[in-house]
Amino acid sequence: MGIYVHVPFCRSKCYYCGFYSLASSSWKKEYVEALVREIRMRKNYLGGEPVRTLYFGGGTPSWLAADELEAIVAALEEHFGLGAVTEQTLEANPEDVVTEKLRLWKDLGFNRLSMGIQSFNEEVLRRMNRAHSSQQAIQAVERAARCGFENISIDLMIGFPGDDCRNWQEELKEVNYLPVSHVSVYMLSIDSNTVFEKLWRKGQFKPLDEDAMADQYLWVSGYLKSIGFEHYEISNFAKNSKYSVHNTSYWQQKKYIGFGPAAHSFDLVSRQWNVAHLKNYIDALNRGCLDFEKELLTEKDQYNEYLMTNLRTRWGISPAYLQARFPEFWKTAVSKWPLYEKNGWVRTDERRICLTEKGWLVSDELFRELFII
Ligand code: SF4
Repeated sequence: MGIYVHVPFCRSKCYYCGFYSLASSSWKKEYVEALVREIRMRKNYLGGEPVRTLYFGGGTPSWLAADELEAIVAALEEHFGLGAVTEQTLEANPEDVVTEKLRLWKDLGFNRLSMGIQSFNEEVLRRMNRAHSSQQAIQAVERAARCGFENISIDLMIGFPGDDCRNWQEELKEVNYLPVSHVSVYMLSIDSNTVFEKLWRKGQFKPLDEDAMADQYLWVSGYLKSIGFEHYEISNFAKNSKYSVHNTSYWQQKKYIGFGPAAHSFDLVSRQWNVAHLKNYIDALNRGCLDFEKELLTEKDQYNEYLMTNLRTRWGISPAYLQARFPEFWKTAVSKWPLYEKNGWVRTDERRICLTEKGWLVSDELFRELFII
């Protein structure tokens, strides 16, 4: 079981970012009060089962003040009990990673930091409107390690125009020297309602084309593997099996509850998501209710989700499970694997079918072919 807390505040909006967050700290106090109400209101959602992972994402959770973070963790402790939590992650932006905050996060039980760094190239950071420099990012990781964080993840973004494999060769040398155990590598995409989307519509911005993006992805993946990282999910790499336990539970379709505006929850049979509007979220909770939408998952949805989430990981799918659980749907997929294998997109053994890195690159097309509509 996992708990996710969405903290929707950022100092400024990065030009590529489509996540729900506001470039402001107005309503922070009201947000914390509403969040605590939501935690109390939904305390039975997980049916009393022990919580194993806790993840604060955003937005910028590291921007929360000590008393705000303490109030949220105390409410979670009171209503869910955090005694069985083994992984407690906080997303942190480099500019927040100072010794005083690191000590607070440790005291509150956080044992994993996920830092949005995106690039070690100053020019790229500036053009993305990131609020930190490359040097600040390096120092933040080193400082966190000195304060005792042994599980540090960083996010990088490939596909920025003008950034090529040669630049990445220089940038990734940093990763080799830094005390990080996990790297997430995302491909730049044009998300709705972002500055890059506006520029792209005017013809003033264009990410790398598909072939160049694929070359960069394979090159970065190859480099990370050469320095000891395992490519265990389409966008994620871990050293010494330090996988993200929280995110892995999404891919393995375990139950989770999400608190805060735009947060999603899943109880095996339905999925629900809170309103992506801070003021509406707060107003509803002030009236004693939650503003959310919900969908029941049909058999088709469950089959499609199983394929999509599990094929993202190196552990792949189990044909025996699919044959037993969804025999009719599975019949439509069986004839496709030999061709995929011939094209180098999948590898199979007697127990699992997994996508290769080449397969991950064309996974959107494969999902379109495999899904039951
Ligand atoms: S990338 Fe992170 S810091 Fe930047 S706007 Fe999005 S949520 Fe905020």
